Amino acid sequence: MIIITRPDITDAELDHIRERIEAVGLHTHLSRGEKRTIIGCIGDESLLQELPLRSIPGVENVLAVLKPYKLASREFSVNRSIVRVGASAAIGGQELVVIAGPCSVENRGMLRETADAVRGSGARILRGGAFKPRSSPYSFQGLGREALALLADVRAEYGLPVVTEVLDTRDVDLVAEHADMLQVGARNMQNYALLSELGRVQRPVLLKRGLSATISELLMAAEYIMAHGNRQVVLCERGIRTFERATRNTLDVSAIPVLQRETHLPVIVDPSHAGGDAALVAPLAFAAIAAGADGLIVEVHPSPEDALSDGDQSLDIPAFDALMQRLPAFAAAAGRALTLDGTTALAGAAVA
Ligand code: PEP
Ligand code: MN
Repeated sequence: MIIITRPDITDAELDHIRERIEAVGLHTHLSRGEKRTIIGCIGDESLLQELPLRSIPGVENVLAVLKPYKLASREFSVNRSIVRVGASAAIGGQELVVIAGPCSVENRGMLRETADAVRGSGARILRGGAFKPRSSPYSFQGLGREALALLADVRAEYGLPVVTEVLDTRDVDLVAEHADMLQVGARNMQNYALLSELGRVQRPVLLKRGLSATISELLMAAEYIMAHGNRQVVLCERGIRTFERATRNTLDVSAIPVLQRETHLPVIVDPSHAGGDAALVAPLAFAAIAAGADGLIVEVHPSPEDALSDGDQSLDIPAFDALMQRLPAFAAAAGRALTLDGTTALAGAAVA
């Protein structure tokens, strides 16, 4: 249930409404817009039956939220959410954000070379896997702690915030110490213990859509993180499993506008895991931006043929730069901006 308040409501009236709702055992969530403030009620709504909500001073209207996800729902927030990552990046504003880097952190040299190059091309956040969720137990599993230390070093050296995946509840604090954003991979989207644990940390979360998850299930996964206290969630469409075998997954372009309609959370797209083929990364990235994505996450490797994971879908450094050069035109066509020189990312985000 959400309560729409009068435009001239006072702070005392707001507090009073919240107190009345909390007194019967629900939680409240405040969303302030420029013109309106709304109060979301979370919990067993039957407890509100005896409360004549419309008669409390300052209340203009009371609406039911029928969706099972509340905190993530578009109705619960007056504004679209902007999620800040590190000191220099913000996802969900006017300015699109590109995250780039290797699938796996393999050694210091390749990470530095990639960070330097992608930053120069206009990426705002560095990605790199430390703990890898591989389909085979015999494949490279990532360097683990060693990779986390390398990510932290390279972040300090290049001033790029970093995102890396956390696979296990036991590693949440360790990963949060080293990274600016924690990724939940597709295979863990419904690991509710992990999602709940991520609700506890004060780090933004990049939540990837599960291989066979519906949009509603993705939003419920976000709701888990939010209900446990962390509202900084960015959703990622990374392709879903379909009957089609010509691509690694099928990029669900429709999920982008559907998510933008259903939630206030930012939505980015991973064209690398969607297509599974370096040649498909650019066209899928263009489609994502055209459909309204707030950003992209792209795998880049200095020498894809030598990559220890996902080499086939990784762009080399010149290909990533060529992609970046073409993106601003697509951003502009979609009514967004993408600046490659590093000067206006946060200014753009503040506008929204
Ligand atoms: C990754 O980002 O390298 C990854 C494993 O992604 P996903 O969980 O989407 O497969
Ligand atoms: Mn990968």
